[in-house]
Amino acid sequence: MPDAAAHLPFYYGSIARSEAEEHLKLGGMADGLFLLRQCLRSLGGYVLSMVCDLQFYHYPIERQLNGTYAILGGKAHCGPEELCEFYSKDADGLCCPLRKPCNRPSGVEPQPGVFDSMRDNMVREYVRQTWKLEGDALEQAIISQAPQVEKLVATTAHERMPWYHGNISREEAERRLYSGAQPDGKFLLREKKENRAYALSLVYGKTVYHYRVDHDKSGKYSIPEGTKFDTLWQLVEYLKLKPDGLIFYLREACPNPNMPGELRPPTMPAQISLPSSWAQPLRNLGPLNADGYTPDPVGAGKSRLLPMDTSVYESPYSDPEELKDKKLFLKRDHLMIDEVELGAGNFGCVKKGVYKMRKKQIDVAIKVLKSNNEKTVKDEMMKEAQIMHQLDNPYIVRMIGVCEAESLMLVMEMASGGPLNRFLASKKDEITTSNIVELMHQVSMGMKYLEEKNFVHRDLAARNVLLVNQHYAKISDFGLSKALGADDSYYKARTAGKWPLKWYAPECILFHKFSSKSDVWSYGVTMWEAFSFGQKPYKKMKGPEVISFIEQGKRMDCPQECPAEMYSLMQQCWTYRWEERPGFVAVENTIRSYYYSIAAKPENGPDPGDRAKAALP
Ligand code: ADP
Ligand code: MG
Repeated sequence: MPDAAAHLPFYYGSIARSEAEEHLKLGGMADGLFLLRQCLRSLGGYVLSMVCDLQFYHYPIERQLNGTYAILGGKAHCGPEELCEFYSKDADGLCCPLRKPCNRPSGVEPQPGVFDSMRDNMVREYVRQTWKLEGDALEQAIISQAPQVEKLVATTAHERMPWYHGNISREEAERRLYSGAQPDGKFLLREKKENRAYALSLVYGKTVYHYRVDHDKSGKYSIPEGTKFDTLWQLVEYLKLKPDGLIFYLREACPNPNMPGELRPPTMPAQISLPSSWAQPLRNLGPLNADGYTPDPVGAGKSRLLPMDTSVYESPYSDPEELKDKKLFLKRDHLMIDEVELGAGNFGCVKKGVYKMRKKQIDVAIKVLKSNNEKTVKDEMMKEAQIMHQLDNPYIVRMIGVCEAESLMLVMEMASGGPLNRFLASKKDEITTSNIVELMHQVSMGMKYLEEKNFVHRDLAARNVLLVNQHYAKISDFGLSKALGADDSYYKARTAGKWPLKWYAPECILFHKFSSKSDVWSYGVTMWEAFSFGQKPYKKMKGPEVISFIEQGKRMDCPQECPAEMYSLMQQCWTYRWEERPGFVAVENTIRSYYYSIAAKPENGPDPGDRAKAALP
């Protein structure tokens, strides 16, 4: 994830308070001289260090849940740069306004944080090993789940640090610290299994001191009365810079003799191997709650089910054994059809079922044509099947095959959460904006895949986005979809049919031209539906009224709880001329950045006492 301040000339990265003060001294100590540095305590936060009346002031800047940045008690801003700009015009509670940036001397780059240098590799290795993914499936998992996996990695990163000794007794800790040289500041961190707590053991004056590490209700770590941190490795890094109540600051790690490889940041090799224990927290999934969370025995926070934990992330045919049997037409005796109806349409109904494969049984949804159906209806379903047959992406409902028996049936992966619009309408009070952004990002990934494969969907709408669970969406209903010729950028319909006009771009209605760009228009309408919790677009307007509404240059308003960034993306999707409209590569990129910016923040509020404390000279 990019550092939002990386481009700023007065940003120093991960440096200590004392170092910041050195730079400000060298900078001349004028009133309003300031610099920005990385906050060591909260993931994604910063500290503004400045001078006033020859004194130093340090203000922590926290990243809020909605992706904005704010000094405690101050106004929110969309980035650290905007925040500094604001305080250069108005002190608004600071010691004085920001006047002059204390820029880095030439040749000095921002100091990478311990975690920065290894994060990307760790995320990749974590996903690869935990879910045994390779190739596209691996890439898609990383893109769609980076914030969640980063959080998982961040909260377990200490297990890879040489100073982490796991569950050893106090006596064993002393034995290890007393063996060999005993310089001041030699330390280790150990786990206390009984109450899931930790302890820090530290040498000073040839004596070992032990400190309890508290883990509070919001999930933060601290030594008693000390500063609170999101993760254990941040606590340790901070205590290396500042004793914060310890008898001495942490200096030299007492290396764990049982640590497999030498793995010391920041000199991480490009290829790292993680111990199999890293895969544990997710493989030991217990039964799931309805909302897709695993119950957490300790109550310290819910661990969430990721798309990769479900059986429909990869195709059932990604297993080479199963692939051997793959055919378009399925055997009827391998298919069990339940009476339960999942949905209905003009074609017939969709039923629940189970399909028996070589090694496993899978839950399926079966689109059953009404019996005595005419040939044209059968042809249409076969066309839909031919399209789906060519697609394989985690964010698209996969077809397992077709079955011709009592009637023609299309057998698909099961997405038991049902259509997005209905789900959101029924869970209005429980679903957060960032949850919707996450789901719409997944839809954009599926659509980017379709665009790349040269398919047009032509019926993208919230009713055709199905949920596997609250955090996993798939695009479905390829009844109107077309594969474009290799040289074509659009499909031209000869005659207008029963079309979902409210989702269609002007060129579809006026010229019957359908392209990925017209799917982008529909994606904008789908976003609007999602951020309105499943409301119908264009209220009570009829198709023709919608057309004149659009022709007049009007567009739907921003839904009540929709972030400005997301409304702005909708508006781009509703660019009148398709030549000027963004494609799915750009759409996915935009929503990805926004999604990462809001999802990276740990889900707990800032510490209220902090501003006053930190602002003391
Ligand atoms: P139509 O062309 O009539 O819109 P759809 O393919 O959208 O047909 O399916 C109709 C309904 O059936 C959906 O709204 C949904 O409730 C249910 N359905 C379809 N496919 C699945 C699936 N793979 N898993 C679960 N439910 C499904
Ligand atoms: Mg449908």
